[in-house]
Amino acid sequence: EEDRALLATDGLDAADDGEQPGRPVVAIIGRPNVGKSTLVNRVLGRREAVVEDIPGVTRDRVAYDAEWSGRNFTLVDTGGWEVDASGIHLRVAEQAEVAIELADAVLFVVDAKVGATDTDEAVVRLLRRSGRPVVLVANKVDDQKTELEAAALWSLGLGQPWPVSALHGRGTGDALDALLEVLPEKSAVAAYERGGPRRVALVGRPNVGKSSLLNKLAGEDRVVVDNVAGTTRDPVDELIELGGKPWRFVDTAGIRRRVHLTRGADFYASLRTQAAIEKAEVAVVLIDAEENIAEADIRVVQQVIDAGRALVLAFNKWDLLDEERRHYLEREIERDLSQVSWAPRANISAMTGRHVDRLVPGLEVALDSWDQRVPTGRLNSFLGEVVAAHPHPVRGGKQPRILFATQASTRPPRFVVFASGFIEAGYRRFLERRLREEFGFEGTPIEVSVRVRE
Ligand code: GDP
Ligand code: GDP
Repeated sequence: EEDRALLATDGLDAADDGEQPGRPVVAIIGRPNVGKSTLVNRVLGRREAVVEDIPGVTRDRVAYDAEWSGRNFTLVDTGGWEVDASGIHLRVAEQAEVAIELADAVLFVVDAKVGATDTDEAVVRLLRRSGRPVVLVANKVDDQKTELEAAALWSLGLGQPWPVSALHGRGTGDALDALLEVLPEKSAVAAYERGGPRRVALVGRPNVGKSSLLNKLAGEDRVVVDNVAGTTRDPVDELIELGGKPWRFVDTAGIRRRVHLTRGADFYASLRTQAAIEKAEVAVVLIDAEENIAEADIRVVQQVIDAGRALVLAFNKWDLLDEERRHYLEREIERDLSQVSWAPRANISAMTGRHVDRLVPGLEVALDSWDQRVPTGRLNSFLGEVVAAHPHPVRGGKQPRILFATQASTRPPRFVVFASGFIEAGYRRFLERRLREEFGFEGTPIEVSVRVRE
């Protein structure tokens, strides 16, 4: 019982050890030319966002670190991609949908002089469905006269329209105050902070060699023991220098403290694994190469994929393998781990140190892929070719068309494909495979979701 209680609090520590929560994300959405960029510049207090007088100029999404009244948030300007390089028409509602999905709150900008258009109404429907908090900005209210026009936007049903002149600054403060009121403290969409040493989790079922590997890695080269939440004897994270730079190995207390588990061991081990994965950007899944690949190994791999973290596979205890086992292992890998054939792999021995140095290039490749962004134009010209060569099969006399795709996020790369009808799972996997063939993504899970447009 005692072990259990001890471990239970361990798990909680790991998940809540004073980590900086991700700063909340605010998306600015609205039709082209309503003044989004002007408003961004106003918020940032410096002329940094590109402001163009040409409607619908192609710009990629840009994110800024913003601050208002002492609170920090990330401001995402969705710009105005109207027509991308391959000529597929992107409706504003579609780009708005992606932006909304990735935001904690939305600044919805409407041109008060023009009033609510059909496109604005369509965006309102998306906003309603998303459940995200919204601040309605009635822009271009340069003077008192125009305030009446702003009031007309009550009809959108989003509550109070805030009359603003992004150009002159009139009313922007009040609108931003309203934003802060609905903005959550912690981001639900940005799970971790950027910058600093990259965060690595060493995971795997018991006895695969996690603590041996940690000792090996830290042994010769340890620079700092970082005890953010633990004691010096019992560090939570350790900074270890490998390949000339520091890496943060997260949640190492659980690896170092060799608690002998009794009841509930599996449950707590899996909780700990989950916590470590979530705190990390990349996970090294250790597998005991001498034993058959077990259900439990596959489960840990799946946890990493489900958490959307980069992945490196390390087959440990290589010193114990004979020819026959090596041969058989390759077969097992093909059979049991085919869904992660994209993961870099190292055959190591934590005991002798064999090929332990090969983990670093694996980590670097995986993180690069995890961070990779495919420009919208390139993505769509590639997709255009793929779809032209292999169109979706006709079903019931209908053939869904792929309209447009965008990479909605990185870390891991997530793609949203807009289509005119239902896309079969098989075809989605085909697209996923082609994306990997074209753009690599070695070491990272990727996600392709489909939105159907009538
Ligand atoms: P975006 O494409 O939605 O980002 O819009 P921009 O920020 O590029 O603005 C489009 C045009 O509207 C530019 O010519 C701006 O100078 C103008 N504009 C933006 N905000 C205001 C405003 O508050 N009042 C007036 N009169 N013009 C504005
Ligand atoms: P953990 O439970 O995943 O932290 O695993 P440990 O690091 O405690 O290792 C479990 C057992 O495997 C220990 O007896 C280690 O000495 C042994 N071990 C770990 N790595 C290797 C290796 O590369 N080769 C061999 N022969 N034994 C290893």
